[in-house]
Amino acid sequence: MTEEDYYDILGVDRDASKSEIKKAYRKKAKRYHPDKNPENQDEAREKFKKISEAYEVLADDEKRKRYDRYGKNGVKQEFGAGGFDWSDFSHRDDVEDIFSDFFGGGRRAGGFEDIFNSFFGGARRRTSSRRSRGRDLRMSIDVSLKDIREGSEKTVKLNRKAQCEKCGGSGSKSGNKSTCPKCGGSGEVKTAQRRGFQQLVTITQCDRCDGRGDIVEDPCSRCNGEGRVEKRETITLNIPAGAKNGDRLRVRGKGEAGPQGVPPGDLYIILKIRPDEDFERKGDDLITETSVTMTEAALGAEIDVPTLEGRVNMKVPPGTQPGDLLRLPDKGLKRRNGSGYGDQLVKINVKIPEELNEKQKELLREFKGIEKEKNKSWFERIRGK
Ligand SMILES: [Zn+2]
Ligand SMILES: [Zn+2]
Repeated sequence: MTEEDYYDILGVDRDASKSEIKKAYRKKAKRYHPDKNPENQDEAREKFKKISEAYEVLADDEKRKRYDRYGKNGVKQEFGAGGFDWSDFSHRDDVEDIFSDFFGGGRRAGGFEDIFNSFFGGARRRTSSRRSRGRDLRMSIDVSLKDIREGSEKTVKLNRKAQCEKCGGSGSKSGNKSTCPKCGGSGEVKTAQRRGFQQLVTITQCDRCDGRGDIVEDPCSRCNGEGRVEKRETITLNIPAGAKNGDRLRVRGKGEAGPQGVPPGDLYIILKIRPDEDFERKGDDLITETSVTMTEAALGAEIDVPTLEGRVNMKVPPGTQPGDLLRLPDKGLKRRNGSGYGDQLVKINVKIPEELNEKQKELLREFKGIEKEKNKSWFERIRGK
C-alpha cells in the first residue's frame, strides 16, 4: 500500500504558504461537494475526507513540521487508532466559511454540523432548504500587547442587518403570510431530466419565495417586507489574555439577520496584534532592550526599565556582558491556558563612551595598567608551577 502524500493530495508544493494551502483546500472542497457529484457521492465523500485530513495537518505549523520530518508517523498520534476521523478535524470554521460563500452568502450556512450532516449523515438534507441562519460577518480589530497582558474589554461599532422591530422580523404588517404558489410551501422545486435510461432529479431552491415556502402579502412599511433593517450597533468584546495574532473571536447572533425572521448568523472578530516599538513578543514572554554604561555593567547597577505595567527597578549584576538577557519574572503576558505570567527578558547593551575627558582617560589608563598586572601575575603563576 502506498501512502499518498498530503502535499500531493492538496496539489501544492512542499514550500507552499499557509494561504496557498488554504486556497488549494477551498478549491478541492468545492469540487468534492456531494451535491456537485450526484452520480458518485460516496467517492466524493471519501475524497473530501482525504483532503480534509491533509488540510488538518498542513494548516497547522506544528503538525506540518512533524509531518515534513517524519511523514505520517509524525502525526499519527493526533488521530485515533483507525486514522483520521471527522472528530479530529479542527478547522470547522474554515469549512463553514467555504460553504457559506459557496451558497451565495448564507444559504445553509447553518454551521459545520449542518454542512456535515448534509454531507456525511447518510440522509439527504432537510426536505426544506429554508435558511437556518443569516450570513456571518467578519471584521478585524487592532489590539495592543497591553490589551492582551491581562485580557481586556473593547468595543467595536458596526452596521449590520438586524431583525426589524416593527414587524418582529416577519416582514408582514399584519403577520399574515400565504403559501408560495410555485413550490406549494416546500421551498424547493424539482426538475427531472432524462439521460438515456436514467432520470436525474435536481432539487433547487424556489426562486419565488427564496426557499421560505411562504410569501408576504402586506409588507411592513419599515423593512419593505424584508423583515430586517440596517442598524448601527456597538458590541463589547472580551479580548482574552495571551491572544495570538489572527485569533478569531466569535460573537454569536451578531451577524446579519436573514430575511423574514431567519435568525442572525455570527460575527467573527479577527485580532491583529499591533507590533510594539519597545516590546517584542515571544510566546508569553516579552523581550526588551536597554543600555547601561560600561561601568554600570562592570560594577553592577540598579536601572529603570519599562514594562507593560509601567517602569520598574531592575538590578544589573556586576560583570554583566553585552547581549546578556536579564529576567524580570512575571512581567510578560498572562498564560492563556495555564496559570501565571510569562517573563520579560531584558537584553543589555553596553555603551562604550565615545568621548572621555582627561580625568577619565587617566583613570582608564590606570585601570588598564592594573588589569595588565593582574593578567601577568596570573600567567606567571601558572608558569611557575
Ligand atoms: Zn418590518
Ligand atoms: Zn416557493
